[in-house]
Amino acid sequence: MTRRKLVAGNWKMNGSLGALSELDAIAEAAESHAGVDVAVAVPSTLIAPAVSRVPALMIGAQDVHAADKGAHTGCISAAMAKEAGARFSIVGHSERRADQSETDADVKAKAEALRGQDMQAIVCVGETLDEREAGRAEAVVTAQVAGSLPEGASGDWCAIAYEPVWAIGTGRTPTADDVAAMHGAIRAKLRAMIGDVADRLRILYGGSVTPDNARELLHVSDVDGALVGGASLTAAKFVPIIAAA
Ligand code: PGA
Repeated sequence: MTRRKLVAGNWKMNGSLGALSELDAIAEAAESHAGVDVAVAVPSTLIAPAVSRVPALMIGAQDVHAADKGAHTGCISAAMAKEAGARFSIVGHSERRADQSETDADVKAKAEALRGQDMQAIVCVGETLDEREAGRAEAVVTAQVAGSLPEGASGDWCAIAYEPVWAIGTGRTPTADDVAAMHGAIRAKLRAMIGDVADRLRILYGGSVTPDNARELLHVSDVDGALVGGASLTAAKFVPIIAAA
């Protein structure tokens, strides 16, 4: 089963109107590497200006609320993100699971809300350092997959991103063997849940992906792309990662 690679950037709470110029070269790279899907999740205030600057590039949000509308001060719905031009959203990033106490059930509901708007979802999972050191990484991550996977998940609109919490923004990465083992465990869990559909779902790796390690990480078995934080903020770093895919 060949799956197209997806290289997605996550700008987190970074960027400005001025920084959108970085998207020009990223959009060019996306066009010239036609075999790779490229996406960038920008802060919600930048979705509309990013889409108008680079309409061909897949721009997304970093989170959406599960509800359509209502009394949720500070949140945006999938429909709002879509109206701004977002074609996808990250859900369940470990920073939100930690800072906003999001549960697997919350993440699942958010992904389902995206589906309801014909948008794509990147569902994040990953263990903490304590969990890894206690030998519980696979159990924790596969339980997150089981709890967070939306109903009707398919490769057309849903991807999983495995991001070990201890690798995010730290410059530390798991070994290629560890990544292969975890992605294999996630794939096996998905097969048990959704059968053959699991073979078409992309599983991205995220956490300190850089131009230096991208080629190795992106070619580990069962790694179908990358979710890139810090190195997605500049074209100088993100474009070589796209090229490495
Ligand atoms: P990082 O972040 O690439 O800066 O480690 C990845 C992420 O949090 O998605």
